[in-house]
Amino acid sequence: MKFADLHLHTQFSDGTFTPEELVLYAQKSGLACIAVTDHDTVEACVRAAAACAAVRMEFIPGAELTAEHEDIEVHVLGYFLDTENRALLGRIAQFQTVRQQRIYEMVAALNKLGVPLKVEAVFALANCKSPGRPHVARALVKEKLIGSLDEAFERYLKKGRPAWVPKTKMSALESVELIHHAGGLAVMAHPGLNRSDEIIPALVEAGLDGIECFHTKHSTVMSERYLEIAERHHLLVTGGSDCHGFSKNKPLIGTVKLPYEHVERLHAARQNPKSKIRNRK
Ligand code: AMP
Ligand code: FE
Ligand code: FE
Ligand code: ZN
Repeated sequence: MKFADLHLHTQFSDGTFTPEELVLYAQKSGLACIAVTDHDTVEACVRAAAACAAVRMEFIPGAELTAEHEDIEVHVLGYFLDTENRALLGRIAQFQTVRQQRIYEMVAALNKLGVPLKVEAVFALANCKSPGRPHVARALVKEKLIGSLDEAFERYLKKGRPAWVPKTKMSALESVELIHHAGGLAVMAHPGLNRSDEIIPALVEAGLDGIECFHTKHSTVMSERYLEIAERHHLLVTGGSDCHGFSKNKPLIGTVKLPYEHVERLHAARQNPKSKIRNRK
C-alpha cells in the first residue's frame, strides 16, 4: 500500500524542519507522496520539490491559507499550486505583512503585562516571512520567560488570553478563488478543529474541492463524520499529520497515513475540474 501525508509545515512558516529535513523524515516513514502546506507562503516548495525528486518521492506544492467566513476562522489548503502565480504571491505577501505586524502587537501586549520579551528575539527565531504565535511561544520558552509552549498558549496567546491579537484574514471565498486561479484544488483543513461545519455548504457553493477528513487531531468518529460529509457534497478526501516538527520527541510526519487512492482522485480532479463524480467510489 502507498500512503501520503498532505499537511506539513517547514521553517518557512511555523514548522521547525527545513524542507530537506522534512523529506528525510518522510522517507523514513515510508511515504510515497507529501505536500508542503505552510501558513500563507509557498516559499518552501522549490526546495521540497528538489529534495523529493532526489529520492523519487511525489511532491505536491501547497499552502494553508488563513481565512474566515462569517467570523469563523477556517484554514484552506491549496494543492498543486503554481507557486509562481502572481495573484497568489501578491495576496499572500499582504498577509505575511499582517503576520509580521501582529508579532509587534503581541510582544507589546506581553510587555504591558510585564513580560520582557524583545520583538527582535521573536524575529530572529522565526527567521521567515510568515511568523505566527508558535514563534512567540518558542521565544518565550527560549528566553526562559515561561516553562513550556503549552503554557505560553494557555497563559498568553490563546484566543481570549491577554496577548492574543486578532489577525486580519482573507475571506474563505476569496481563498478558494485564489487557489483555483493558481491552478490548485481548494480543501478545507481540519474541520474538526474549527467546529465550523455550518459554513461547509457556503464553501462548497464557492467551489471547494475537498475536505481534510484525516488529521492528527481528528478522532475516528470525527473522520467518519467528515467522510460522510465529503460523500454528501461530492468532495475529495484528504488527510495529513499537520507536522510542525517534533511532537513528544517524535516527528509527527507520517502518523496520519492517507491511502494513495485519494491522491489519485486529486489527480483526476485536476484533469477534470468540473466533474461532479470525482469522489464517488
Ligand atoms: P497563528 O497562525 O499565528 O494564529 O498561529 C496558529 C498556529 O499556532 C497553529 O497553526 C498551530 O501551529 C499553533 N497553535 C495554535 N494553538 C495552539 C496551542 N494551544 N498550542 C500549541 N500550538 C498552537
Ligand atoms: Fe501552524
Ligand atoms: Fe491549520
Ligand atoms: Zn497546518
